[in-house]
Amino acid sequence: MSSVLIIGAGGVGQVVVHKCARVPDVFERICLASRTKSKCDAIAKQLPRPIDTAQLDADDPAQTTALIRSFKPDLVINVALPYQDLAIMDACLETGTDYLDTANYEPRDTAKFEYRWQWDYQERFAHKGLMALLGSGFDPGVTNVFTAYATKHYLNEISELDIVDVNGGDHGRPFATNFNPEINIREVTAPCRHFENGQFIETPAMSEHRSFTCPDNVGTYRIYRMYHEELESITKNFPTLRRAQFWMSFSDNYLKHLEVLRNVGMTRIDPVMYQGREIVPLQFLKAVLPDPGELGPTTKGRTCIGNIMVGTKDGQPRRIYIYNVCDHEACYAEVGSQAISYTTGVPAMIGAMMMLTGKWRGKGVFNMEQLDPDPFMDALNRHGLPWTVMEGEGIPW
Ligand code: NDP
Repeated sequence: MSSVLIIGAGGVGQVVVHKCARVPDVFERICLASRTKSKCDAIAKQLPRPIDTAQLDADDPAQTTALIRSFKPDLVINVALPYQDLAIMDACLETGTDYLDTANYEPRDTAKFEYRWQWDYQERFAHKGLMALLGSGFDPGVTNVFTAYATKHYLNEISELDIVDVNGGDHGRPFATNFNPEINIREVTAPCRHFENGQFIETPAMSEHRSFTCPDNVGTYRIYRMYHEELESITKNFPTLRRAQFWMSFSDNYLKHLEVLRNVGMTRIDPVMYQGREIVPLQFLKAVLPDPGELGPTTKGRTCIGNIMVGTKDGQPRRIYIYNVCDHEACYAEVGSQAISYTTGVPAMIGAMMMLTGKWRGKGVFNMEQLDPDPFMDALNRHGLPWTVMEGEGIPW
């Protein structure tokens, strides 16, 4: 039995806490800490058993170090924002504590998605005998594990990967993002990069799209090619890949709003002077957009996220699709959050469970595809994200 410190009481944090609380034989003691303690207390009230809560500014490693020293967790689950990753990793190193997150570090002043900064911690974590697990959400996270599972059981060699993330949900609001608006808009307005013949190729954001018909009657959606962080680690860890791309669905309405916001300068991440003080337009925009956590009660429809993978098995060409379909309303009924938070929070809990039960152990910094996919895939089926493998002609690609 173990104890965890969960940092971040947003949409994803809510799901992680609910899910950990339901597995008391692994997560015996839980502390939820975040910038706004009242949010932690509100989540704590919904749970079947008591947990600790704390106020924490995780940008300050000294505060995190002090909290770790007083609560003594075996593992820190970071579901705050990507800006805090390095500061929390520093506190873990200082206190000798394992680390897990769901999104790679980003500096505040550039929308740059790179593992470089966190991979640089490899030797320091290894030297202390600690483990850091990076990107244990759905994408990155489950999509990395799907790739590892395919190459373990279905393909001797993988040559093409298309990750397709469809949100067939509708929240009923004119414009809102499904997770933190600042992080979401930085991601979708960044130039696209996809991997082809050994290198990443940059194209303008949202310049390539196609139609995708999801399985299980989720519907047909327009999907746009964009850069996503798991492409960096997956192409490194599966060097036989000749092409790797990431696609996400966006409604015309979402893109129309985004275009206008961009044209008028509201998605800028550099500071501008306003009434004698500096403000960052995108941070101001976040303050006036709906909080993704409030979208749960009104969001209907399903998500469909999965990997289409091409390669060979015993010298023969083979194509498989591994995917999960998740229902927004069912997620809300279970844990009080919509499916985007749910599909991120459940894998974070499972990654933590893998580490705490010793199924995934190692010294240093790891991406998800570097570990044995089988126990993780089993746990997805048991904890609310069942998956399906489709082969051959039925694959909608
Ligand atoms: P939210 O904005 O809803 O929640 C973030 C939480 O972190 C808030 O409670 C916020 O506090 C808290 N926080 C922010 N800064 C600090 C700080 N300095 N110290 C302590 N707490 C802080 O975001 P989400 O829950 O939607 O997303 C959480 C993470 O999950 C993000 O990193 C996101 O990128 C990642 N993600 C990963 C996905 C994946 O599939 N891999 C998919 C979706 C999200 P406050 O309430 O005071 O603002």
